[in-house]
Amino acid sequence: MANKPAQLVERPPVVVVMGHVDHGKSTLLDFIRKSNVVASEHGGITQHVAAYEVVHPIRDPSGSNGAGRTKHITFIDTPGHAAFSAIRARGANVADIAILVVAADDGVKAQTLEALAQIREAGIPFVVAINKIDKPNANVERTQGSIMEQGVYLEKLGGDVPWTAISAKTGAGVDELLDVILLVAEIHEYKADAKAPAEGFVIETHRDQKRGLAATLVIGNGTLVGGMAVLAGRAIAPVRIMEDHLGKTLKEATFSTPISLVGFDELPGVGETFRAYKNKREAEAAREQMAPAAASAAPTAAGEGQYSMPVIVRADTTGSLEAILQETSRIGDEHGRVTVVQSGIGTISEGDVKTALAGESHAVVIGFNVRIDPVAEARARERGVRIEIFNIIYKLTENLDELLKESAPKRKVEETVGTAKIMKVFSSRKDEHVIGGAVAEGYLAKNGMLRIIRRKVLIGVAKIKNIQTNKQNVDRAEAPAEFGAQIETETTFEPAQGDTIECFATTTV
Ligand code: GDP
Repeated sequence: MANKPAQLVERPPVVVVMGHVDHGKSTLLDFIRKSNVVASEHGGITQHVAAYEVVHPIRDPSGSNGAGRTKHITFIDTPGHAAFSAIRARGANVADIAILVVAADDGVKAQTLEALAQIREAGIPFVVAINKIDKPNANVERTQGSIMEQGVYLEKLGGDVPWTAISAKTGAGVDELLDVILLVAEIHEYKADAKAPAEGFVIETHRDQKRGLAATLVIGNGTLVGGMAVLAGRAIAPVRIMEDHLGKTLKEATFSTPISLVGFDELPGVGETFRAYKNKREAEAAREQMAPAAASAAPTAAGEGQYSMPVIVRADTTGSLEAILQETSRIGDEHGRVTVVQSGIGTISEGDVKTALAGESHAVVIGFNVRIDPVAEARARERGVRIEIFNIIYKLTENLDELLKESAPKRKVEETVGTAKIMKVFSSRKDEHVIGGAVAEGYLAKNGMLRIIRRKVLIGVAKIKNIQTNKQNVDRAEAPAEFGAQIETETTFEPAQGDTIECFATTTV
């Protein structure tokens, strides 16, 4: 495919919504989704596609209608721009355009500035949405003033940054906001090549209860066709179960469509780039060429046999979220770890609770300096989803550490308490044997379990029925004692002179 000439065509813009907590990011995203996305055939919108595409009629700048023509816009549906930050942290941009939401009753706040700094660093155009204009205490002029103070010069007020006054609640001005987005997109002429193999970004990941590891991908360039395979970070998925944001099966997808792809062999990190290959074999070959995985704060799948405790993290700022993700990636050991299945900024929502319920084991929802939406709280109580709120990071990690210990399945750990050598086998009858030997280290205990090893190979396991030193029954024979013991083997094998025996104790941790 690489040597085909690029055929660049217009592609829909990818938009991210940013701004201070509670200024209405989620409400705006919900309003746009509800009023512009055709409902799914199954009657509901799938929860797990953290981006959606809307169709909006084109209006030309003179205000007249664009003769029934429409254009697409892709919205990243993770308010709090977790994905945006994760991708920025890797030095790329997933979004072409940002909407900076500022509440008209509150003005510019700490996270407005944070968002603005991120937008500027990303060097992408943005549109200011002055929200909540339906509120009696909304003051658009004062809000404009607080925005201009940050060096953001608004259109019609001497500057060139487009803005609209909206109410995400009533929907007032939202159409106009979408018009402005399309105008900005037109000026920037976003192009892509439909003939190229697809590439783009991982926006969100989750475990699908029945189908396995899934990710929401936004295609930035190229086309993804059934039968191909996707390599995202080090995770591979065949393009077999591919769905759009309505849960409809897709055979093919192109830019800037958000899709849900199921069947990854490990959970890719949010913000990771992906690339499509002709088939799984080629994707695997590409993975082999990669450097070994570097440790990162991005969520990764638990290793084989490793318990993974799913958690959802909501924090008040991108800074705190990043710090929490860093810390949670350090919790646990080779037996168990915490896997962040979803993270973001802002209030704990009903969507978080639904995500928590979606996995095989319910995820714990962790909030840092955030509120819980009352509906989410009620639903969590009803369905037994645990929500914990913290305001100190180390308390949060301490608590997660404890939760991990509590919820990890109990493991049996075998500890060798003593070793010995068999010097003589006095009798062998079926599974009953009488042996004599010398304890080299530690002790052998009555009723203790033994591993019998010959030339470094384990030949069987046995139990000590009775043990004697100096012809006296004892509970333990300690090094360097010589002993005689009656043992019972679990399978049929005969211990022999020269075998090593290891006495082990099993504890549950
Ligand atoms: P986020 O933290 O930025 O995602 O904010 P949310 O979308 O969760 O909104 C925070 C609160 O403000 C919620 O109670 C919303 O119902 C409310 N809200 C959001 N937009 C508007 C609006 O345009 N008008 C009014 N009156 N309330 C709004």
